Amino acid sequence: MLPTHLPARSLPISAVRLQSYIEISNYVRGLRVTYPRVPGCVSGYSRGFHCVNRLRQQDGPCPPPSHSFLEDYKQSMNFPAATIDLKSLLERPVSGDKVALHGYLGRRVDMGKRMAFVRLSDSTLSHNVQVIAFAKNKAAFEKLKAIEANSPVVVQGTVQEKQPSVKEKAAGEQEKAKADSVEIALEDIHCLNEFPKDIIMTPETVFPAEKRHLQIRTESNLRDALLFRAKVRNVLREALGELQPPFVDIETPLLFKSTPEGAREFLVPTRRRGLAYALPQSPQQYKQILMASGIPRYYQFARCFRDEDLRADRQPEFTQLDLEMSFATGEDVMSIIEAAVKKLWSSLMPEPLAAESFPRSSYQDVMAKYGSDKPDVRIGMEIKRIDHMIPVDLVSKISPLNEPIVEAMKLPGNEDPDETRRFLTTFMDSPAASGFHKNPEGGPGAFVYDSRKPLSGLQPFGFEATWVLEQELNLEDGDLVLIQARKNAPFSGGSTALGDLRREIHKAAVEANFKPAPTGFHFLWVTGFPLFSPISESEPGQGGAAGIASTHHPFTAPLRESDVSLLLTDPTKVVADHYDLVVNGVELGGGSRRIHSAAVQEFILRDILKMPAERLADFAHLLEALRAGCPPHAGIALGFDRLVAVMLGRESVRDVIAFPKSGKGEDVLVKCPSEMTEESLRTYHLQLRDERAEEK
Ligand code: ASP
Repeated sequence: MLPTHLPARSLPISAVRLQSYIEISNYVRGLRVTYPRVPGCVSGYSRGFHCVNRLRQQDGPCPPPSHSFLEDYKQSMNFPAATIDLKSLLERPVSGDKVALHGYLGRRVDMGKRMAFVRLSDSTLSHNVQVIAFAKNKAAFEKLKAIEANSPVVVQGTVQEKQPSVKEKAAGEQEKAKADSVEIALEDIHCLNEFPKDIIMTPETVFPAEKRHLQIRTESNLRDALLFRAKVRNVLREALGELQPPFVDIETPLLFKSTPEGAREFLVPTRRRGLAYALPQSPQQYKQILMASGIPRYYQFARCFRDEDLRADRQPEFTQLDLEMSFATGEDVMSIIEAAVKKLWSSLMPEPLAAESFPRSSYQDVMAKYGSDKPDVRIGMEIKRIDHMIPVDLVSKISPLNEPIVEAMKLPGNEDPDETRRFLTTFMDSPAASGFHKNPEGGPGAFVYDSRKPLSGLQPFGFEATWVLEQELNLEDGDLVLIQARKNAPFSGGSTALGDLRREIHKAAVEANFKPAPTGFHFLWVTGFPLFSPISESEPGQGGAAGIASTHHPFTAPLRESDVSLLLTDPTKVVADHYDLVVNGVELGGGSRRIHSAAVQEFILRDILKMPAERLADFAHLLEALRAGCPPHAGIALGFDRLVAVMLGRESVRDVIAFPKSGKGEDVLVKCPSEMTEESLRTYHLQLRDERAEEK
């Protein structure tokens, strides 16, 4: 509700536009604020800003312009240099030293009329010191009192020993030791840009994504993540740069061309009628061209752009550590990445990774064992196939499919079947489970193992199957047995329904404190993917007419000579030299050995994928480069945002990106994408289709 004491002319903005209590209160304050001229304080921008806002709100004309803000601005231009940074000062304080410190002012505490205390945070916002001001230095005292908390300032003063406060004294020796040993006696202060009164910013304030700058300013977690991200980058650079020959950081163009590599692209129209660039979904083709150009080892922290459905935790633009090496196989790439990841952990994480190599599993194995091509193996819960031993009527109860594959797994309980039942009921009724109930291949079956019941609660399995299940799954009281049917067909895609259930039910069990959260980092290489997969509706693939698309991308090589031969007889059985690096259920990245022969590459595009001639022509540059004696080569790209999020244990990549896009692909801070104007449409020779008229 808007407060009634507002002047009538202030009410035209509908409360609907104000999203939160904070905004409403900021709004109210904003209108009541007057902006006295603070000596030496630059506040012009905030005044100008409000004026613009009022004009937008058609809230009456601006007052006649005053240009005092220009004078304030001039004063802030030549601000005193810092004589020392606060961290160094606190580490080695010298009493009596005259210092100038840069930073942000805290909230002032007045001690009667004679004295005031205020904390000064340094420019990193991670160190602070107490500043003490005395009324006897009238000029500085008055200046300090006129400056709003959170304003950037220069404090000039003398370092002096700090007497413990009454509170610190009362708290005893330990607290005294933690308190600062020095404080700054204020001699002068310069405000460099007054913090506006209409923004309430306390350590408790939670800012929405639209105010990302204030989120970053108030959440040390976010700032720390950005610093950590930079450190990760530096360690990786060092790891790759110190090899022989070293990997060389080479930038590749962001204005690229549209090619059917696999993901949907963003187009960039040009002023030349009908011509557009495409933003790269990855630097894949350029890095392969570099291999043909005699660059032996390339890397780059590459910005990539994919116009994909923004499924959980994907960004339309993201960063990859992208690398490629010539005269190399997938083995070479995997060992370089393992060394780099180990160096990262030993440099930046509390505990280094074990010295052994990362284990490997094939796509077929992980799909059969965990129902996922990026399993979190820490949680166990291995899947077993059981259709050969269970009664037909049980199969027909759980699935309408004809002769399906039926699989089972166990979520271990805590020896108490009743507790497991309670957890199961809550999970099955939760939104997380609704997708599983709606599965057209049949929902999951769930049974709580309970030795007090006939056949321990597994009667529908019959005597024999119960006995086998008890042995295979090593069942104990309170264990939850889950079964699920699926089509009797080879694995394709990233997961099965039971694999998804495994992940979701374990997550719910952790959230409900039914199971402990898994700990540590378990890296795994998943290898041996099929070279081609059936086309999926959600991925554009390569637009070929063969009904299949490359699983990784169309430049990936077959694994063995026998796989090369299979290209002619049964391409769907070809295994790829493709490897994904997985950690704790997260796909960190993937790569492959590439096809280095132009003839083979062309054969795959034209004869296997059955790409139309005009799309094949889009790859002419790559074929030309391969043809020019390109050596064998292999590479990989690691999702850099994900890597940092995993290292920091953050749920979302948004927490490690300075300016992430929302779930709708929008930057709500700067508000983009934004509508194209008539003028820009004209400039780019574009016209918007009237879709409603076309539908009629
Ligand atoms: N370009 C690939 C990707 O973005 C990675 C690679 O194969 O190196 O997934």
